[in-house]
Amino acid sequence: MIRLAVRAPVEAAEQVLAAVLELAPSGVEEVEGEGFVEYAVYGAPGELPELAVGEAEVGGVLVTVSGTEVPDDWAERWKRFHSPVLVGGRLWVRPPWEEPAVRPAVIDLVIDPGRAFGTGAHATTRLCLELLLEVELKGRSFCDLGCGSGVLSIAAAKLGAGPVTALDSDRLAVEATLGNARDNGVALEQVRRANLREESCPRADIVAANLMRPLLLRVAELMEDPPGALIVSGVLEHEADGVGEAFSPLVERRRLTSRGWTAALYRPSGT
Ligand code: SAH
Repeated sequence: MIRLAVRAPVEAAEQVLAAVLELAPSGVEEVEGEGFVEYAVYGAPGELPELAVGEAEVGGVLVTVSGTEVPDDWAERWKRFHSPVLVGGRLWVRPPWEEPAVRPAVIDLVIDPGRAFGTGAHATTRLCLELLLEVELKGRSFCDLGCGSGVLSIAAAKLGAGPVTALDSDRLAVEATLGNARDNGVALEQVRRANLREESCPRADIVAANLMRPLLLRVAELMEDPPGALIVSGVLEHEADGVGEAFSPLVERRRLTSRGWTAALYRPSGT
């Protein structure tokens, strides 16, 4: 297995990410370093995007492309990328093998990513969690569209939301969400498979959708009863206005960006 990585200066993250996602639409690994960001895909030689190793231009930006043979113990090595994150000074999101939060006011969230997306380390997850902390959740119903590891649902439940519905088309995500909810001692009312291309999102006070642009546009199209607060991510900076318009009559109240990604909070106008 080869790991093909594109390293770009952090100031140019958005242009490079957009171009890399055209080459690898199903997603890339992101590694952040001092002043740079690296996007990587894995595959057998011949299955990978055609990028020559060395200096190259991607998305109009000068980047460094490297290809490395991935060692056999890669399943263990990837754990190194899942380091704990403290979000908004209030949520400590960590994998099970890291130490729990020590400060009593900080909520400890244990996420075993298994094979589902969402450890808290990804910019889009972190931004969604930051926006969740800005919304009143106590006693409010919550729906998580594309729950992955369940990180957003479990955070919402720990912050007092309920009932919580978590939906994902991927069986592994449903399993990971159920397992993670159990390990965190929270009860989620509904965790099930759903294809959000076909099924409209159930009515909830607060909805979170960390998906990508094409699916978000479909979710907007199918949405029958807009929530009181909608948190959206998985959107590149240049896509944010268009995605926001799709959710009209909801209006944008907050926008956060990190490493080329955007997350936004929408509410009905006048609220
Ligand atoms: N909510 C998590 C995971 C986001 S990743 C977090 O914020 O970290 C996006 C998730 O959407 C993935 O788990 C993926 O399986 C799911 N997904 C992709 N297409 C979908 C579809 N058509 N219907 C439902 N879920 C989908």
